[in-house]
Amino acid sequence: MNTDFEMEEIDCPICEQSKGDPLHLEGSFQMVRCSSCQFIFLNPRPTAESLHHFYQTYLPEEESSIESWKRMMKPVFHRAANLLKRYGRNGRLLDVGSGFGFFVAEMKKKGWEAAGVEISQKALEYAGNVLGLTVHPGPLGKAGFPDNQFDAVTAFYVIEHLPSPRDFLRECYRILKPGGLLLLRYPHTTPIKNLFHFLGVKNRLYDLPAHLSDFSPKIIQQCLEKIGFEKCQHSIGGYTLPEDLGKRTSSILFGSFAEASFYLSGKKFLFPGVSKTIVAFKAKVS
Ligand SMILES: [Zn+2]
Repeated sequence: MNTDFEMEEIDCPICEQSKGDPLHLEGSFQMVRCSSCQFIFLNPRPTAESLHHFYQTYLPEEESSIESWKRMMKPVFHRAANLLKRYGRNGRLLDVGSGFGFFVAEMKKKGWEAAGVEISQKALEYAGNVLGLTVHPGPLGKAGFPDNQFDAVTAFYVIEHLPSPRDFLRECYRILKPGGLLLLRYPHTTPIKNLFHFLGVKNRLYDLPAHLSDFSPKIIQQCLEKIGFEKCQHSIGGYTLPEDLGKRTSSILFGSFAEASFYLSGKKFLFPGVSKTIVAFKAKVS
């Protein structure tokens, strides 16, 4: 299974205190839980170089698949755009892992000076050539933006793919203007995985080895606050609409239930196992 990847064994990417205890196997890939900080991550994992090759073919290429991708993400992008509006933001926006560029395009329409960063060459070309957008070659750390550049940085389903999530968050902090907003959208798969495991249902929900980790709301917030982000605010933030009928039905079902329980609890209850959106702000005076 992982013969296509050059693998490496690592210490916990968050606290570096342990190599983790085995938690779940998906094929020959193993998710582990850090015995020190409880972070859940893939170990061993593909090297950064093999991942870079892998991502050149990760996104679909056919026009029909690109269109389904757009439809799948549309409700989440719409909710994120509303969140940015609610916080009264406007100005310069960077979408990291911008894929085909649909969120960048939507924000441009709403009057933002929006650009993307993307490691997939084909997706980057689509965004540039078909949609006429500005997208910088990734990863973010190599794009070399000066300090204090952006009013908002967004990253949809990116952080779980990154070998060094803390470095990524620090870089987001550095390039944001003081008071600037970071919006992250991330999956939280472990509770559903545990339930399926309990029921004896086989599945590949972790999407290994693409996902290198599975953040819980608590750990992601702790990471942000350690870096200096403040006023962290979670929400469910809508749900995706995958093309596959079964996946779409469960996304709507669990997503709607998660939204309803979030609002009924006075915006406190984050339904375990569904994707979440978190916003955080760079301190105004650093
Ligand atoms: Zn740890």
